[in-house]
Amino acid sequence: MLVNKENPFTREINNNDLVLFSKSLYEKSRQIYIEKRCALYLRRMLNDVNEYSLKHGYNEVVLDEGFRTREYQMEIMGYYKEAEGAQKAEARVAPADASEHRTGLGVDFSLIINAPRSLRENADDHLYHYLGNDRWYKVDPEEDDPEMKWLRDNSYKYGFILRYPKGKEEVLGYMMEPWHFRFVGSPEVAKEIFDKGLTLEEYVNSKVKKLERKF
Ligand SMILES: [Zn+2]
Repeated sequence: MLVNKENPFTREINNNDLVLFSKSLYEKSRQIYIEKRCALYLRRMLNDVNEYSLKHGYNEVVLDEGFRTREYQMEIMGYYKEAEGAQKAEARVAPADASEHRTGLGVDFSLIINAPRSLRENADDHLYHYLGNDRWYKVDPEEDDPEMKWLRDNSYKYGFILRYPKGKEEVLGYMMEPWHFRFVGSPEVAKEIFDKGLTLEEYVNSKVKKLERKF
């Protein structure tokens, strides 16, 4: 299933297809639901990336976003427009039905960073949220963060792909998002996409072309 600006997701997902995965660590009342087909894979992937992080002294990775209702997607757009201006917000956040978060198959990761409160308390940065006890919740991790690099290199084993990679901004119409991954149904499909270095758009198009040649 391809969801983007040209292919909006206009229906409402069946609630029976969603499972509660976790709670947001900084917005305590926010519960994070995902499509149930990817829950087990996601659980395993998070376990494994955190085992790697712990071993190397890196940061803990947590699920930040999964399924979004249309209203919530619009709320997020409003938030970023205010924080960063309309142009930047539109390159970052999808319009309501063009977000694959609407399907429950797209996920965002955040990091839990250990640092004294004083280190950032004066920084005017909406991407850091203080959790207490010298712990910070960092939204939108960077491309160079080793945890994101691990996910980039290994997520296909769990059926996920990096959805908005660097260098594909023209094809995608979005800036790169090192934190956003997409479940594509199986590790086999994800591996093919990963090995060929495709975006989901390019992969789906290649399959359509193949079918067109057949008929
Ligand atoms: Zn996302």
